[in-house]
Amino acid sequence: MATEYGVFEDGACIEAGFHGEIGKAAAEAHMADLVAAEPGMADAYEVDEICPDHDEQPKNGCEECADEESEDDTEDRDGRS
Ligand SMILES: [Zn+2]
Repeated sequence: MATEYGVFEDGACIEAGFHGEIGKAAAEAHMADLVAAEPGMADAYEVDEICPDHDEQPKNGCEECADEESEDDTEDRDGRS
């Protein structure tokens, strides 16, 4: 399955559904349009890979995946206060 890319604004996905290398190029072109419309926002936008398991989450730093990993700790929760 092709890698999915999305356009993010301040870490929040605003456009997704860009698949593969062609999709990445399309996402970058879309981002360029956004930056052209609002040059002051250039630093807020970025193209990143989408998490393969969760829509609209960046592959690196997916909050949903981070939550799932932390849930593994419930097995030994008896020792916690
Ligand atoms: Zn995820």
